[in-house]
Amino acid sequence: MHNAERWADRTTIHLPATAGAAVKLLGELGSEGRLLAGGTWLMRAPMTSGHYIALAGIAELRQIEIGQDRLRIGAGASHAELALALDGLDDLKGLADAAGGAANPAIRRRATVGGNLCTTAFAASDLASALLAAEAEVTLITPAGTLRQELAIYLDWRRTSAAQHHLLQHVEVSRRAGRRLCHARLPLRRAGDYPVAMVSLAAGSDRQGRLADVVVAVGAVESQARRWPALERTLTGQLPCRSAAITCAQANLCQFAGREGPEVPGWYRQQVLPELVARAVAQWAKAGGQE
Ligand SMILES: Cc1cc2nc3c(=O)[nH]c(=O)nc-3n(C[C@H](O)[C@H](O)[C@H](O)COP(=O)(O)OP(=O)(O)OC[C@H]3O[C@@H](n4cnc5c(N)ncnc54)[C@H](O)[C@@H]3O)c2cc1C
Repeated sequence: MHNAERWADRTTIHLPATAGAAVKLLGELGSEGRLLAGGTWLMRAPMTSGHYIALAGIAELRQIEIGQDRLRIGAGASHAELALALDGLDDLKGLADAAGGAANPAIRRRATVGGNLCTTAFAASDLASALLAAEAEVTLITPAGTLRQELAIYLDWRRTSAAQHHLLQHVEVSRRAGRRLCHARLPLRRAGDYPVAMVSLAAGSDRQGRLADVVVAVGAVESQARRWPALERTLTGQLPCRSAAITCAQANLCQFAGREGPEVPGWYRQQVLPELVARAVAQWAKAGGQE
């Protein structure tokens, strides 16, 4: 059983109390049902008729559990809640920066982690980039059961029609000793303060203080955030200095085709990447006392 409110005779908002009940409703309502989290993306357009399944009242989805080896973020946690929960955790600073730097304070208070990862029409998700670099995994609930996937696979799958009836339950990140995550973004006022490009970097270091096990993700440049494997290989074993970061990034720039948009041309998004890589590497070095 769940509560439901009817708006203007055309729109029904369902208020399930559990994630399981929300998924059951999704299955029952078929193409008429839509999950509603913070509503910051969905409500940019007037509500259309149909059934919205509100997630805001589901306490289990809002939990953020921080363990020594693992971080688990409920999909219903807001950006502001995530940034606050991670405050002071050096290894996850990039994730805190992504959550705490996205959009503006009003949006951050409402917009959820799940909504951010599931908004396929939005190319500049800070969390998608940071969580890709953190090699996050997601857990989904579908009418057929629970499914665990790498975030990278999920982001591709989410864009297919087969992805209709599922709920993103939580996101998990492993915490490994000596590994640090950093996030550098370039918002532009003329782009409505949306970031036009972003780079997230996770890495450990070898005995000489050189970058090891490098993972780099890029957001906002193409229609979806993705990893930059060629740069990961080139940066591995490099000293974490500005010139090395810029040279390595410039050598691998051709791996991206910048997305054209009314705010900036595609080439611009691509050309700012070396600077963002250098900033991410500088943050990484600073966090490890290697300035
Ligand atoms: C002015 C403005 C500026 C912004 N700037 C930034 C920025 O700088 N960086 C950034 O990263 N983002 C930015 N955003 C995007 C913002 O982060 C998204 O609007 C937000 O994350 C969506 O979350 P929500 O909880 O409001 O989702 P909703 O709007 O409620 O839902 C969005 C989509 O996700 C689906 N969904 C939601 N939760 C789940 C779930 N648990 N499982 C499956 N599907 C789900 C919904 O069905 C819907 O399709 C901006 C948005 C605005 C309006």
